[in-house]
Amino acid sequence: MLLKFTSKGIYCIPGKFYIDPWRPVDLAVLTHGHADHARNGMKKYLCHHFTKPILHSRIGKEIECQSVEYGEVLNINGVKVSLHPAGHIIGSAQIRMEYKGYVCVVSGDYKIQDDGISTPFESVRCNEFVSESTFGLPIYNWLSVGAQEQQMRNWVQQNKTNGKTSVFIGYSLGKSQRIMKALEGLDELNVHYSIAKLNEAYESVGVQLPDYNTIDLREDKKHLDGKIVILPPALIDNPAMKKIPNLAYAICSGWMQIRGARRWRSADAGFAISDHADWQGLISAIKATEAEKVHITHGQTAVFSKYLNEIGIFADEVKTEYGNDEETTEFEPE
Ligand SMILES: [Zn+2]
Ligand SMILES: [Zn+2]
Repeated sequence: MLLKFTSKGIYCIPGKFYIDPWRPVDLAVLTHGHADHARNGMKKYLCHHFTKPILHSRIGKEIECQSVEYGEVLNINGVKVSLHPAGHIIGSAQIRMEYKGYVCVVSGDYKIQDDGISTPFESVRCNEFVSESTFGLPIYNWLSVGAQEQQMRNWVQQNKTNGKTSVFIGYSLGKSQRIMKALEGLDELNVHYSIAKLNEAYESVGVQLPDYNTIDLREDKKHLDGKIVILPPALIDNPAMKKIPNLAYAICSGWMQIRGARRWRSADAGFAISDHADWQGLISAIKATEAEKVHITHGQTAVFSKYLNEIGIFADEVKTEYGNDEETTEFEPE
C-alpha cells in the first residue's frame, strides 16, 4: 500500500510525506496554491516553481519551500516523486508517486480545458488515482473557452451601450486572471488589490497578463463609471461594491450553470466558467489514467463514485478537507 487517508491528510507511507495536508506535518507536497490545499504550519513544503511565489504571498516569506519543474523526478525515501500539469491554475500539479513499480497519482483540483494561462492538463497513467468531483454531475458541461470569452465580451459591450459599469466577480487566484485575459483590449481593467497581489505572483514567474489598474473600494469610486472592474467573491454584498456607479455585476463560477445557485439570483449575469473539470472532463481524465482503483474526494463523491462503479471502474469515496475554497463554497446552490 502506497497511500493512506489519515486525519492529517493524504499520506504516502514509504515516502513519509503528506499531500496537501490540513494539519501541520514535516513534509507537505502541494498540488497548488489555493487555501484548502496550501495551509500554513508545515515544516517544509515541496511544490512547482510557479506555486512558490503564491505560497510566499499567502502563507509568508519565511517558509521552507523547495520547488521543482514539471516532470522532474525526486527520490523521497525510495519513492520516485514527480509533478505533472493539472491545468487548474498556474503551477497546479498532479503528484505522481512510484514505489517498487506501483504508481499512484493524486490530482488535487484539475481541469481539462486549456485556459491559456495554466500549463495544460496532462494525463498520467497509474495504478491508483485520486480525483476530485466538485462538478461530478451530468448537468455540468462547460462551453469552450472561446465561447465563454465571447459571452463575457458581449456582456461588456451591452453594458457600455446601456451606460453600465461591468463588474465581474471571480476567485482572486486563477479565475480573475482568466477574466482579465478574456477581456483584454476591450477597455481599461480595474482589479481589486487582493487580485493585484496575486497578479504580481503570476508576473514574477514570467506570465504576461493584460495591463490593469489596482483599485481599493474604500476610496472614491466615481472614476470606475462605465469601466470594467474585477472583484473577489468576498466583496459581493459589500456596501462599498454597491456604491460603484451604474453597476451591473456578473458572477463567474461553475455553479452558474445551475439557475438556482444562491448568489446568482441577485446578480445581473452569471457565467459558468470553472477551473475544475466538468462531468465529461472528469470521466475522460479518469479513463485516460487506466487506473484499476480510483478514489473520489471532495465534491459529488457519492453520485460520482457510484456512476464510475456502474461503468466498470472500481471507485470509492474518501474523506478529505478540500473543497472549501472560494469557488466551491461562495456559490453553492441551496
Ligand atoms: Zn483549487
Ligand atoms: Zn480545492
